[in-house]
Amino acid sequence: MEVKETLNFIEEIIEEDLKKGTHGGRVHTRFPPEPNGYLHIGHAKSICLNFGLAQKYGGKTNLRFDDTNPVTEETEYVESIRNDVRWLGFQWDAEYYASDYFHQLYEWALVLIDKGLAYVDDSTSEEIAALKGTPTSAGKDSPFRSRSIEENRRLFVEMKEGKYPDGSRVLRAKIDMAHPNMIMRDPILYRIKNAAHHRTGNKWCIYPMYDFAHGQSDSIEKITHSICTLEFIPHRALYDWCIDNLEIFPSRQYEFARLNLTYTIMSKRKLLELVNGGHVKGWDDPRMPTISGLRRRGFTPESIREFAKRVGVAKRENIIEVQLLEYCIREDLNKKAHRVMAVMDPVKLVITNYPEGKSEHLTIENNPEDTESGTREVPFSRELYIEREDFMENPPKKYFRLFPGGMVRLKGAYIIVCDSVIKDDSGNIAEIHCSLIENSRSGNDQSGLTVKGTIHWVSAPHAEKAELRLYDRLFTDINPTGHDDKDFKEFINPDSLKVISAFIEPSLKQAKAGISYQFIRKAYFCVDSDSTPENMVFNQTVTLKDAWNPSKG
Ligand code: ATP
Ligand code: MG
Repeated sequence: MEVKETLNFIEEIIEEDLKKGTHGGRVHTRFPPEPNGYLHIGHAKSICLNFGLAQKYGGKTNLRFDDTNPVTEETEYVESIRNDVRWLGFQWDAEYYASDYFHQLYEWALVLIDKGLAYVDDSTSEEIAALKGTPTSAGKDSPFRSRSIEENRRLFVEMKEGKYPDGSRVLRAKIDMAHPNMIMRDPILYRIKNAAHHRTGNKWCIYPMYDFAHGQSDSIEKITHSICTLEFIPHRALYDWCIDNLEIFPSRQYEFARLNLTYTIMSKRKLLELVNGGHVKGWDDPRMPTISGLRRRGFTPESIREFAKRVGVAKRENIIEVQLLEYCIREDLNKKAHRVMAVMDPVKLVITNYPEGKSEHLTIENNPEDTESGTREVPFSRELYIEREDFMENPPKKYFRLFPGGMVRLKGAYIIVCDSVIKDDSGNIAEIHCSLIENSRSGNDQSGLTVKGTIHWVSAPHAEKAELRLYDRLFTDINPTGHDDKDFKEFINPDSLKVISAFIEPSLKQAKAGISYQFIRKAYFCVDSDSTPENMVFNQTVTLKDAWNPSKG
C-alpha cells in the first residue's frame, strides 16, 4: 500500500507553483533575521521551515540580515546568528544584508516619486497619526500630499544629504487614506535617523522602513516564496504594491503561525530585557529559549529539528507545550548519551566483607541502546556512596531499594545485603553496612538470586566532585506575556536555578564541554562551558521521565 505523505499548506502552494512552472520551477527561500538579539526557538522553527523546503524541492535558501534599523543592530548578533544557523545543521547558499540594498532602495524611492506615487511629508508623527483614521473610519489627506514631483524629489534628495534633523520629514507612499487596510493609508517609506549603522557607518541618515525594504530585498534576491509569520498578513498588500509599482521580480509572501511555547517568552526585545536586567546570566543562559541557551543546556540540533517537524506548519495562532521540546531531547539523548553514575545526595555505604585497600575495575556498557557505544572501566571498592533516598530504615511494602535485611544490585556490580546502620550523635544515618554476595557480579552472576532493585553508586576513594546546575522553568506562568495588567518579568521563577554538588565516577574527568550523559536513574546532563578538570560543571538538560505523552500533546 502506498502511504501518501500529507503536505503542509506551504508545500501545497509550492507544489502547485512547480506544476504551473511559476518562476521556472525554482524554489528559493530566505531566512531574514534582524540582528538585534540572539535567535530563539521560534527562529529555529522558521529556519527549519525555510531551509527544509529548499532541501525538499531542490532549491536554495539565503541568509539575509534584515538590518535596516541602525539603532538596535550589532555585529555580535550577526556572528551569533550565523553560528546558530550552522549549528542547527543548515548552510545558506548566499549571505546578504538588507543594508547592501540601501542604494537600490533609495533609487526605487525616487522611481515612486517620479511616478507620483510617493511624497515628502513634513508633518510630525503625532500629526500623521491624527489623520490616519480608524479601522472603521477613513483617514484624511496630509496637507503635504499634493506636493509636486519636482518638490518631492528635491526634498527627498536633501533628506538623504543630511539637510534635515531626525523626525522632521518622512517619505510616504501615495496610496489611499481611505483604504480599508490601515497599512495602505500612505505608509511611511523612509525616515531620517542620524545614527551610525553597524555596516554602513555614517553613510546614510535616511533609513527605509521594513515595508519598503523587505519585499524589495526578496525581489533583488529573486526569492520565490517569502515566508513570514501571521502578523504580516496586513502587510502583504503593501509588499505587493511596492513590487507591482516598481515592476520588479514578483516575489510572494506567505504567512504561517509563529511558534509560541508554554512557560517562556519569544521575543528578542524581551529576552534582551532579561539579559540587561541580570535576570539570567546572558543570552546563552541554559534557562533561555535561545538557540545558544538550549545548546548550552544540552539540546542537540537533531532534537530541535525533530521538534520543529512535530510542531508542523499552522495557519492559526497556537501555543505548543514545552514538554514536546523536552520529549524530543529525551528521545534523542536516549539513543546517544552514555550512561554514567553520579550520586547527588550521598550517604556512605561500607561493604564489610570486601577487603580494605582492595579495588577492582568493572567493565560497564556505555549505552545499552547503542551497541557501538562500547564499554568503560568503573572502579569498585569497599566504600561507596549511594543516594540517601535509596535507603529506608523502615520501608513500606514493595520497597525495592535498600533497607536493613534487604537486598539490591549495585548497578554493573554485585548484589549486596544490608546488615546494619550506623548513626551519628544526632541520629542521622552516617554509614550503611552491607555484605557482598559472592559470585553475583553483573554479567557473570552465579548466585542464583533474583533481586528487584538496582541502585547506582560511586566508589568513595575514586569519586570526583562536580557542580550540578539544576534548572526549573524560567517563568511560573504558562504564558508570561499573556497578561495585560502585568509585566512578564513579574512571573520570573525565583527558583529556576539550583546548584548542588555531587560525586561522579572518575571516567567523567575526561568529559568535554557540550557532551551529554545520562546520570542513570536521574537525568540527562551535559558538561557546561564553565567546566574545568579541577572544577567540573554539569547542566541538567532534562529529567529521564515525564508523564507527558506526545500523542495527547
Ligand atoms: P522577535 O520579536 O523575537 O525579534 P522577529 O520576528 O522580530 O522576532 P526577526 O529577526 O525579524 O525576529 O525574525 C526572523 C524570521 O524569524 C522572520 O521570518 C520571522 O517571521 C521568524 N520568526 C520570528 N519569531 C518566530 C516565531 N516565534 N515562530 C516562527 N517564526 C518566527
Ligand atoms: Mg523584529
